[in-house]
Amino acid sequence: MQAYAHARAQAQAQAQAQAQAQAQAQTRQALQIKAWAKVNLALSIVAKRPDGYHDIETVMHRIDLADEIEVVRGSSCVDAGIPAVTVEVTGVEGVDISGVPCDGRNVAFRAAQAFLKPLESPGTDCSVGISIRKRIPVGAGLGGGSADAAAVLAAMNQLWGKPYGREQLIAIAASTGADVPFCLMNHDLAGCGDDCCTPVIAAFARGVGDRLTPLPALRGVGMLLVNPGFAVSTSDAYAMWDARLVEGFEYVGDTPSRCNAVRPEARSTARLLAEALRSAQQRAGSAHADDDLRRICSLMSNDFEPLIAERHGQIMQIKQLMMQAGAIGALMSGSGPTVFGVYGSPGKARAAADALRSLASASGLDVSRDGFCVIAGCIGGSGS
Ligand code: ATP
Repeated sequence: MQAYAHARAQAQAQAQAQAQAQAQAQTRQALQIKAWAKVNLALSIVAKRPDGYHDIETVMHRIDLADEIEVVRGSSCVDAGIPAVTVEVTGVEGVDISGVPCDGRNVAFRAAQAFLKPLESPGTDCSVGISIRKRIPVGAGLGGGSADAAAVLAAMNQLWGKPYGREQLIAIAASTGADVPFCLMNHDLAGCGDDCCTPVIAAFARGVGDRLTPLPALRGVGMLLVNPGFAVSTSDAYAMWDARLVEGFEYVGDTPSRCNAVRPEARSTARLLAEALRSAQQRAGSAHADDDLRRICSLMSNDFEPLIAERHGQIMQIKQLMMQAGAIGALMSGSGPTVFGVYGSPGKARAAADALRSLASASGLDVSRDGFCVIAGCIGGSGS
């Protein structure tokens, strides 16, 4: 009799646990989303501000290389006033994730916290689980962290039923990091309550990189990325640049509301490239398309490139090899060290990848170094 009662209790407990698991599975809401990398087709540092930040002018372009993110909405609630966020990071073969934190230092973690903070109220789901599978090399000048943060914001806004409009979401993105608004606008933010929801693939950015004007994207263009297998910290790159601050600057005042060191001549570079993208769009499909791409490539420049190249000879070597392998233009992206080359089509870029690998080993570049990689793809990508 006792044994029967025990078995019945066990069966009841099992059924209860099953029902609970089922209910949890029903309320568990998850979304998988891509987090695209970017390249800077042009990057000019135009001023150093009294607050220590730098004003830049840059043309950013989304590329077809992305981390894979899964975001799971949970219902456990606030722990000591802090929304419960968990982050798990894995990487595909060849991507070194040892420097990517899983706590509050992870920019995707901070984005999730910033998203949840204003929503906290009894009954609101305020826990989230984030899994990041890194394909974008880390500390590479490709904006991987910003891309992850933006993807998390876009996914959470869907999972939570669009509590924020586009402008509010962009403001949360800007509070998370300078490149996050651009990466956020790469996503389809449809239904966020504003008119313009088309994903932005390319943009001219000012300020710290957060004041954005959409630009026409390059279409049908191929790209090779070469990461030489070491990381560059963006703050170190700015520090190197500050050490050279004396050249080419005009000091125009020192009140907190004004820039105290500006470089007027630097303003034109990214603007010219933005203008070239606009006129290429107007003539798209015409006999001038090749000339337009050549003009765009001839305007590519990056103020960080000479500084990083001075310390790492590989940068110029890789650029030269890219050109030998048929690139129309090649440049270091962001604060480096990844170099990208622009090719006439994705097919040409793929074909050039093999040539580039052989050229690189023949020229003595350490291609067996951990993290050294050649990635072939297209610029702009094919949508979400
Ligand atoms: P930037 O946007 O400054 O140009 P980057 O593209 O050169 O950055 P990231 O890959 O974003 O470099 O990483 C820079 C650093 O940020 C890493 O070394 C790492 O410590 C930290 N980090 C925080 N969160 C992430 C993340 N989700 N992915 C990658 N790195 C992260």
